[in-house]
Amino acid sequence: MAVITNAPRGTQDVLPAQSARWQYIENTLLRTAELFGFREIRTPVFEHTELFSRSVGDTTDVVQKEMYTFLDKGKRSVTLRPEGTAGVVRAVLQNGLLGGALPLRTCYVIPCFRYEKPQAGRLREFHQFGVEMFGPKSPAADAQVIALANEIFQTLGIEGLELHINSIGCPECRAKYQQALREYFTAHLGTLCETCQGRLEKNPMRILDCKSPECHAVVEGAPLVLDYICDDCREHFEGLKKRLDLLGISYSVDPKIVRGLDYYTRTVFEFVSQKIGAQGTVCGGGRYDGLVEELGGSATPALGFAMGLERLLLQMDACGCLFPEENTCDIYLAGMGEAGSLRAQQLCYELQQEGFYAECDCMERSVKAQMKYADKHGAKYAAVLGKSELQSGECTVKDMRGGKSVQVSLTDFAGQIYRLLLEGAYTEVIEAGEQLQKGQE
Ligand code: ATP
Ligand code: MG
Repeated sequence: MAVITNAPRGTQDVLPAQSARWQYIENTLLRTAELFGFREIRTPVFEHTELFSRSVGDTTDVVQKEMYTFLDKGKRSVTLRPEGTAGVVRAVLQNGLLGGALPLRTCYVIPCFRYEKPQAGRLREFHQFGVEMFGPKSPAADAQVIALANEIFQTLGIEGLELHINSIGCPECRAKYQQALREYFTAHLGTLCETCQGRLEKNPMRILDCKSPECHAVVEGAPLVLDYICDDCREHFEGLKKRLDLLGISYSVDPKIVRGLDYYTRTVFEFVSQKIGAQGTVCGGGRYDGLVEELGGSATPALGFAMGLERLLLQMDACGCLFPEENTCDIYLAGMGEAGSLRAQQLCYELQQEGFYAECDCMERSVKAQMKYADKHGAKYAAVLGKSELQSGECTVKDMRGGKSVQVSLTDFAGQIYRLLLEGAYTEVIEAGEQLQKGQE
């Protein structure tokens, strides 16, 4: 029986103490994407099951083993999205966005769901930041999305990710390659896992991405797709490499990458870490020139990538990346007695309306206990409002980080608190500068 106070296996809570990290990452992702022209798109958490089997591909691990699929009360089969691309393409087609200016650039931060064996870097609910771009067939676009991923890692201070690129050709050259794979794997049929034996006829490339150890050994000796791609695909791949060189983005060609989703054509790429264990692919992406047409639109080249935010966080911790300091309470207003408490709440609300982070008591605590809370809570300033303060119309604002206390009038309270906070921040900057200078001497 499930214990209701245990979250389902493979899910993770983001607790208040960690949410600032997530907000920082999400803001950085969306802001950086905006610099490259990508705007956020939001689509439903669940879609018709068929959307995923058609786009991700019904011989992929994702569709065959990992989807959260169920019948809703109207007996329709729906699936919690295992990835973001399919839903975006659906939304783009449904809303006629390809009729507007091209390229169309979209991005998203979303929860995804896959029924996998939970382990470090592999969850059943995880989060992806992804981008999708529609319209361009030029390798300039491939270089743009790779440059965006690269810039995101740099902005977050992430080091040690290796970019691996490959081309898996177009449907024309791929047919020849698939035939070569079929011949190769037929000779090793007995060694393949059961799922892959079933894939041999329909989609032998999927065997290359199989995670089972017996298939892994056979895959080692399989023909390489780069030996089979046609002149156009080769030229496209060379164009991408030339542009990455020009942009100063280092990469290595890895002819073994095929990616786990069926919709990819030509460029595929991964950013891989050696620091976070077996699940080292932080970001994966590529071109999917056939997908829009496959889902009922007119033929439109497209491409994108997705990065796993939990793996991104693992990598950031492994690199010792810095996160911004958490925002702490600007001022705590303690109330003494009925009249003081009422005034404290009123002033507190005024400050909040002016955009300050202010708190006051709602636990009916003594003034001493309120001040203890303010201190533990890291409040920058605190003031007590009691009978005498109400009478004199001013109160003492105490600098909780050890600075001077000052008398502040209760009229235009917010304006004076604003000045205090500014002065405090200014002093902090000066002190940090002096410390830095001392360190350098
Ligand atoms: P993997 O090789 O780990 O199975 P994948 O090829 O299935 O990954 P994609 O479908 O390309 O992954 O998803 C893009 C990214 O999403 C991955 O590179 C990874 O960072 C993240 N991701 C995928 N599945 C999971 C998961 N179960 N838990 C956490 N992150 C995941
Ligand atoms: Mg996977």
